Amino acid sequence: MLYPFILAWTSLTATLPLTGPGIAAPPPTLRRLAAGVYAALGDIGRGTEGRPNAGFVVTDSGVVVIDAMASPRQAEELVQAIQSVTPQPIKWLVLTHHHPDHHFGAIVFRRLGAKVIAHPDRRVLASEAGEDALIADWVRVVGLDAMRGFEFADVPDRPVIGTDTLRLGGRSLIITHPGAAHSAGDLMVWLPRERILFAGDLLVEDGVTMLVDGSSGRLLRALAAIDSLRPLSAVPGHGAIPARPARLVARTREYVTGLRSAMRSAIEQGTPMGRAMASLPPADETRPVSLNSRRRRNAVRVYLEEEKAYMGLDSAR
Ligand SMILES: [Zn+2]
Repeated sequence: MLYPFILAWTSLTATLPLTGPGIAAPPPTLRRLAAGVYAALGDIGRGTEGRPNAGFVVTDSGVVVIDAMASPRQAEELVQAIQSVTPQPIKWLVLTHHHPDHHFGAIVFRRLGAKVIAHPDRRVLASEAGEDALIADWVRVVGLDAMRGFEFADVPDRPVIGTDTLRLGGRSLIITHPGAAHSAGDLMVWLPRERILFAGDLLVEDGVTMLVDGSSGRLLRALAAIDSLRPLSAVPGHGAIPARPARLVARTREYVTGLRSAMRSAIEQGTPMGRAMASLPPADETRPVSLNSRRRRNAVRVYLEEEKAYMGLDSAR
């Protein structure tokens, strides 16, 4: 059931561009994390209203890109950034999930001959009204120019539903589905030798991760899985790369567990959802994915999860 408070996060985007239609954004800044391993940093400090992070791994047999940015234009800028450090061809594109800001540039990589690795479950709340509506919404976010040449390209050539190891040019990338934590089709990418994790939106450094397409219980399990890897470096889906990954994981866990216990006690005290939400900062309805809106939508989601659990209806916890 979709509670009316839960709005598809692209449905309010008319007033706040992600990078600004027609506004040229600087190309992504590259951060070298280890030999041949780069993060491409999007906008920092704007949460999911900014350009997302991506990354790539250079091997002797080609390049593996992790996430495709939010539009063909952004993807072309990423390709230029990759070509500034290596002449190797781009062989694979791994998508951490199917939210438009992480895969709407995928067609650019496909046209360059890359094959796509993704989870086959592409369902997201934002596309409930259909793919045409999603594209129309997204054009309002990134602008028509940035979307020139767009086609959906996130159906995987190599689907991953459990764990898969991609071996290329002497490197190994372990690609894992941590459960439907942030979205049904979550994947994370782990480089065991370098101990570097590309976490997608399981981690958001400059805001909070969104739960409306996933679940709080599965996010907590995904965070435990990240902890057990003990990464030296973890690239979040948005925001700066944390100096200490465990801190960002802990902060995310505190947020989720705090929200769960607040919603649980509201339910135990018979507080209706409307009143439980009244204790939260008001959502800024002029902004699509502002921190307050996101916190509020997460709270609605967790209230419903806790209500189900309280009534003994949730067998999936
Ligand atoms: Zn996302």
